[in-house]
Amino acid sequence: MKKWLLFGLVLYSGQLLAFPRANPVPGGIAIIPVADATTTVTAPVVQYEGKRVTVAQQDGAWLALVGIPLDAQAGEHHLQAAGSLIPFEVQPKQYRTQRIRINDNNKVEPDDESSQRIVQELAVQKGIKSRYSPQAATLDFIRPAPGADTGRFGMRRIFNGQQRNPHSGMDIAAATGTPVKATAAGRVLHTGDFFFSGNVVYVDHGSGVISMYAHLSQITVKPGDNLQQGDIVGAVGSTGRATGPHLHWSVYLNGEAVDPALFL
Ligand SMILES: [Zn+2]
Repeated sequence: MKKWLLFGLVLYSGQLLAFPRANPVPGGIAIIPVADATTTVTAPVVQYEGKRVTVAQQDGAWLALVGIPLDAQAGEHHLQAAGSLIPFEVQPKQYRTQRIRINDNNKVEPDDESSQRIVQELAVQKGIKSRYSPQAATLDFIRPAPGADTGRFGMRRIFNGQQRNPHSGMDIAAATGTPVKATAAGRVLHTGDFFFSGNVVYVDHGSGVISMYAHLSQITVKPGDNLQQGDIVGAVGSTGRATGPHLHWSVYLNGEAVDPALFL
């Protein structure tokens, strides 16, 4: 291929990069046209399983970006938009299994006190990741830290021989203290210390697009802070349930964890 042609393609795909890749599988994203943006001025309200869905404009169309739950069944699913149902197809996907050894077995088989804490925290985290703010979505993402991918999204996980929830993010190996960057512009929604996630920062990128950074050794932002893409939110660590220092990075659409790699 001629160099200039390749360059042109790179420029063109550069414009498309501000949108995630569609991959309509459990844990993936379905991108569904819902209205003509040349005649419909404001983003239409779209829901999936009762939750508000991210809608963004591209090439004269309003597109719904649907986060498909990891436990979704393959087959026909529906969006609700302006009183009508829009069908879309979810394809099957099998994720691989990962076996993980955790030294602190209380992180695998929590005692009663820890179990109570976990139940409360799950409710808090569910509320945070399901937040929908009306600002237009920012979909131009960068990798939040350099390093090798050591845990892919969606892997079924066996901790110390016990089956646990599938992996809800991407793990990036990096040394403790490595700066963690905001993947896109947004507003800090929440910071906290959770049993499994350790020190964590949630960032709202508008219209139900939320990112999360976990196991941090340090948090350097506070709720309400406005961030530009690349602003530092904290540092890599191994707090919570972690085998060693790494960044766990999650992205949520309509409250569902989706594969962050689809945004890169
Ligand atoms: Zn992880």
